[in-house]
Parts: sequence; C-alpha cells; structure tokens
Amino acid sequence: MNNNVDVAIAGAGIAGCLLARNLARDGHRVAVIEKSKREDAGHDWWDTIKIATFARVGMPEPEPPELMSTRHEATVYLPLETKPLTAPPRPESIHVDRKLLEQRQIRYAEEAGAELLFGAKATGPLLDGDQVVGMGVETAEGEKIELRAKITIDAAGMSGVLRSKMPEKFGFPQQVERKDMFVTYREIRNNTTASRDDLLIFGKNNGVVWVNRAEAGMVDFFAGAINFPGRTEPRDIVNEMIRKTPEAGDRIMRGGYGAPIPVRHCFDSFVAPGFMLCGDSACHCSPIDGSGMASSMIAADHASKIAHAALENGDTSLAALWPYIGAYKREQGVPFVGLDAVQKFMVSEPKINLELLFTRGVLKIEEFWGSGGGAGGNKLKMLLRLIKLVDRPLFVRRLIASVGIGAKLKVHYMNFPDKYDPAEFAAWVKGKESLFAELPPAMLPPR
Ligand SMILES: Cc1cc2nc3c(=O)[nH]c(=O)nc-3n(C[C@H](O)[C@H](O)[C@H](O)COP(=O)(O)OP(=O)(O)OC[C@H]3O[C@@H](n4cnc5c(N)ncnc54)[C@H](O)[C@@H]3O)c2cc1C
Repeated sequence: MNNNVDVAIAGAGIAGCLLARNLARDGHRVAVIEKSKREDAGHDWWDTIKIATFARVGMPEPEPPELMSTRHEATVYLPLETKPLTAPPRPESIHVDRKLLEQRQIRYAEEAGAELLFGAKATGPLLDGDQVVGMGVETAEGEKIELRAKITIDAAGMSGVLRSKMPEKFGFPQQVERKDMFVTYREIRNNTTASRDDLLIFGKNNGVVWVNRAEAGMVDFFAGAINFPGRTEPRDIVNEMIRKTPEAGDRIMRGGYGAPIPVRHCFDSFVAPGFMLCGDSACHCSPIDGSGMASSMIAADHASKIAHAALENGDTSLAALWPYIGAYKREQGVPFVGLDAVQKFMVSEPKINLELLFTRGVLKIEEFWGSGGGAGGNKLKMLLRLIKLVDRPLFVRRLIASVGIGAKLKVHYMNFPDKYDPAEFAAWVKGKESLFAELPPAMLPPR
C-alpha cells in the first residue's frame, strides 16, 4: 500500500466505501483501512433503507439476492402493549442484504481505483499541530505504519477510532454519551411455519423490539434500548420474544450478536483541519431508531464533493472543509434534529401518555417511524387531533412545548453558519444547547 495518499479513510462500511468510490473516481489517491477481513465485511443480516437513496447517491439500485423484500404491513404495540395498531406497508422501503451490499460497495471502490487494506486497524490520527496529516495503522501482521494523507476521514462507525483521540475543541466529542446510544441484539431463526406477520413494539424499555417475518423461512428478532443505567439487556428481551414465538426454530440462521448505534442529532461540527467524520462516527443517523444507512450515504456524498473541491484548491483547512457540515445539516440534519426533540420528549413521559398519544390517534406510527420527518407538517391537523387528549391538559401542554422546541431546532439547523467563524459557530452551538435544555429530562428506568 502507498503510505502517502490524498485521502485516508478509516472503515470500509457504508460511508467509507462510498467516499472511497467517489474520491477515487475524481482522480484522487485513496487508501481505506478496514479492520475486518474482506469476506467478513458487512453486518450478517438485512436492513431497511429507502430505495430512492441509491439514486440520490448515484449508485445502481440493488437487485436480488441483495434486494430482499419490501416492508409490508406490521402490527404495532406501544410500550404497555394494550391495543394493537397497524402500520401500513412501506413499499418505498426495502430490505437489503448488508453483506451483499457491502461487497458491492467494496467492488465499486476498488474499480474506481481506491486501495483497500483489510484486517488492518486504524489506531489514531497523526497530528501536526492542529492539522491532521494521516493516521496510524496496525496491519494484520502487526506491522505499525504511518499512513500520510492530505485529508483523513473517520468512517469507522460510532466508536470513532480517530475521533476518540482528537482534541475536543473542534465541535465533536471523543465519545458518544450513553444516553445517546442504543444497545442492540439481533438473532434470525428459521421459521417453522408459513406465518409472515410482522410485529413492532415501539417504546418498550425505551427502545424498539421487532419480530419480523418478511423474509421467507426466517424470523428476525431485534431489540434495541437506550443505554440508560438500569436498562434491560436487549439479548434478554430477544430471548423472551423467542420464547413467546412458537414458530421460531432452533437454528440461528444469521446475526446472533449486537452492536451499539447512536440515537442523537449529528454532532455540531464534523470537520477539523485535514479531517472529516462521516456516518455513525458523526452520528449521521435517525435519533428515533438509529437507522443510519441512508444518512451515512448522503453524508458521504456531501463529504466527497467538499473534499474533492478542497484537494483541487490545495486547501484542506477547517474553513475549506466547513461547507460539508451545513450541506448535510440542511438536507438530513433538519428532520433528524426535530426527531431528536420527539425522542427526548418520549423518554421523559410516563409510558401511559405515549400509549394514549398513539391509541387515540393523535400521532400515527407511520408519521415518524422511519419517516425522517415527524407529524409536525400540518399544524391545524395536529391541533384538531390534540382535542382527543382533552382529559390530559398538562400532557398536552408539555407535548406542544416540545413540538415547538423541535420546530425551533429545525430553523436553527437551517441557519447553520455557511462560513467558518469561531465566534459565530460558538453562538450557534450555544443557541442549540439552550433549545435542548428546554426539553424535559429523561424518566430513567428504575434500578
Ligand atoms: C442491529 C442493527 C440494525 C440496524 N438496522 C438498520 C436499518 O434497518 N436501517 C438503517 O438504515 N440502519 C440500520 N442500522 C444502522 C446502520 O448499520 C449504520 O447506521 C450504518 O452501518 C452506518 O454506516 P457507517 O459507514 O458509518 O458505519 P459501519 O457501516 O458500521 O462501518 C464502519 C466500518 O469501520 C470498521 N472499523 C471500525 N473500527 C475500525 C478500526 N479501528 N480500523 C479500521 N476499521 C474499523 C468496521 O469494521 C466497519 O466496517 C442498524 C444497526 C444495527 C447494529
């Protein structure tokens, strides 16, 4: 591998591969460091993504067997599991086989000319003052290399191996806080019957549980819970669901493990001199359920355009990379920051209130589950629906206040400073934090 490149990327996941393809295609020398072996890259299950994402980032749509089913109707319960609701089919959302998608993305990156090194770990950024000039790498053979680059990108997922060793002054933290992450567990068993019903329990243990039978012959069990102290172990939740599902066979066909995922709004900044964050490492994900494939790809698309322009102009300073932040925030950050307000409101309320919100039809599951949007679009419709909660005036007051803060946060995101100015950025961060501080605190699970 060439130890001196234009762009060095940690992580050959959803974001890293797309960055590598785009930047190599633009004629830059790109090296990607991936800790998994080539054949192990990608999660061992399928995930849901809007099909339109592929056109958005200039990638051919998946075909079978990578393309699996579309999302069909699901029975939904709220945390107290009193009354079943129905979430309508979402034909715009598909299941993709993550392993096959990953292999395709790796192929695109290599065909474009990027060099990928598998079984090698990124160990930390190389710094020259404030400028990131590459990363440390430990190869599969234990050899330590200094990989030098004009731009270094952390696309290594939530743990952010490079981010975690960067000084905090740039507007992103070293670690994602526990309250901002889901711990998850997923196990896919053989389905011993022809049943294809889907079940979703939303809000259980401050998280999400599903039993999905969309894929023939398999039952997919998932549990994710916010990593609050005292939380229930997702694996225990899955085991309980398996016990309650008689058609689940004994064979673990895929998965059988979990991984933490961020559930928060994206970081205030995702750039430093010569350095960018992309995907889960910057919390480019939905704060409601941690979905981050589409947003990681969209972030990679913006990041590669800005990195290309910076390399063409021979300027990889903080100011040159800055436009990446506003571009992502305006496209994807705006709906997601609104959803973060919804998420924070939901974990602050007694479960019975959430139950009433949905069972009385004030909010519809499909209006925010996987929508990236939320129900706030039509204010009049929302106000009329609130009449259904007339016996809960204090709850309605808190709900209206939280929706209002969500709306202000969205406007605040739209007004992210276009140009790098430390004072203006500091004022923007302060404004955002004061809006979040107005949201009620989480109601923690009993220890
Ligand atoms: C159980 C589960 C279910 C999910 N379901 C969905 C879903 O249905 N829809 C959806 O949109 N999203 C879903 N997600 C989230 C989605 O997987 C992530 O948002 C997405 O993969 C983020 O892409 P990324 O490129 O940032 O990170 P990743 O795809 O995680 O890629 C990071 C890469 O970096 C590598 N890496 C890590 N550390 C190092 C290191 N030190 N050196 C070198 N390489 C390193 C990793 O091996 C990995 O290949 C789910 C996540 C989980 C855990």
